[in-house]
Amino acid sequence: MSGVGVTRGGGGVGRRRVLVFPLPFEGHINPMLQLAGALHGRGGLSVTVLHTRFNALDPSLHPELAFAEVPDGVPPDVAAAGSIAEIIHAMNAAMEGESSPTWTSVRDVLASVVAADEEKPPAACLIIDANLLAVQKAAASLGLPTLVLRTGSAACLSCFLAYPMLHEKGYLPPKESRLYEPLKELPPLRIRDLFYSGQANHEIIREILARAIETVRNSDGLVINTFDELEPPELERIRGEVDVAVVLAVGPLHKLSPVDYAGRSSLLRQDHSCIEWLDTQATGSVLYVSFGSLASMDSDEFLEVAGALHSSGHPFLWVIRPDLVRGSHATTSTRLPDGFERAVEEEGRRGKVIHWAPQQQVLAHHAVGGFWTHAGWNSTLESISEGVPMICRPQFADQMMNTRYVQEAWGVGFELEGELKRGEIERAIRKLMGEKEGAGLRERAEKLRKKVAGCLESGGSSQVALDKLVKYIASL
Ligand code: UDP
Repeated sequence: MSGVGVTRGGGGVGRRRVLVFPLPFEGHINPMLQLAGALHGRGGLSVTVLHTRFNALDPSLHPELAFAEVPDGVPPDVAAAGSIAEIIHAMNAAMEGESSPTWTSVRDVLASVVAADEEKPPAACLIIDANLLAVQKAAASLGLPTLVLRTGSAACLSCFLAYPMLHEKGYLPPKESRLYEPLKELPPLRIRDLFYSGQANHEIIREILARAIETVRNSDGLVINTFDELEPPELERIRGEVDVAVVLAVGPLHKLSPVDYAGRSSLLRQDHSCIEWLDTQATGSVLYVSFGSLASMDSDEFLEVAGALHSSGHPFLWVIRPDLVRGSHATTSTRLPDGFERAVEEEGRRGKVIHWAPQQQVLAHHAVGGFWTHAGWNSTLESISEGVPMICRPQFADQMMNTRYVQEAWGVGFELEGELKRGEIERAIRKLMGEKEGAGLRERAEKLRKKVAGCLESGGSSQVALDKLVKYIASL
């Protein structure tokens, strides 16, 4: 078999084995590896992680898991400069079609990984990301059952299921004049909150979503990174609409996987120096600012953010990813406004800038009192889990709908809409962090945190769901 690297991890050979295959992006890798950790820890199951060459994982960080690399067929120019939608599209195009060489390689790797030997117990199933329809087809050709892990919210999946209806009724593709129209079929969403952002290629998105739904419907079970008490009507809608053996809400997965999993799946190296810095700050005083692994801004917006953080008066921890500012490859210090670093770090010790944070630890730190986020689902769930209220600045994919739920359904944050201007940002920061202004948000965030704690207790809904998942896997 050409170009196939199989690396075997250390121990952990249980009675059954599970294969997992994440989509190769941070927000999809993290929950899949957290699920792998939870299954390994809870069920004593052996786990083999399949991963693409694009954004390949480092097996040495997970000695308890086995790894196998799968060719993905993404052309180098798309891998280097494509959007997430373009990369998923290219991967699907390369893997699909039984005469395609990538499909044959995927199937060969899968066949070699499925085969049991004296070291590897038999594989019970493959748990895949919903965007990997071609891999599901390869598994089906080998007689291997598949489960789907949805790394977004239940609301997001329930929206995907509704897309054919939304197209039929003329809500989609979205028209500029109707963006703020409420969707009576999917409260509290409006047309604007659906998966289609201004810049998106609607045809590609429509195709990707249709494939994801096909993958979910073809699967033998559905696992969602949410918890029952957070999205009851959305989960009920899914259970009514998807005819699969199990629909299990096993989240927040970062809380169910072993503690030392935090950060091990990170594609960027996390800078832990910020924890020491947080230790020096007063409880609830720090605004944590991070826009996840993909969202970006232009240099004017970047300067407005820097100016607002500087003058807001609140301590802040700001994650400036190397590719946060569009079209810029300069180092952080050359892009920051004159005197910014000196003023915040040296004179006032009021701020800290890092390239990538140990986010789960940061949000759990007592000093953090608010999160300015792009509202990716993992970030939203991680914030909810620690009772940290949010300013949301969504850009694409499910970020708009997550924002809508944060604001309207749970009341634990609000959207910062419109052009990013220093004055508006400062007002938003005051609304979140101010003693009086932010009190209601903090109170609701704390109530929601207690619900998370409840679902994680022994007998709590997520623990029960995870036990059911282990039993189901053992029965396959
Ligand atoms: N993350 C991190 N360090 C950072 C920012 C983010 O480890 O400085 C992690 C975060 O904990 C989350 C993931 O990256 O698990 C981002 O996923 P999310 O769904 O929030 O957004 P995406 O990056 O997919 O847009």
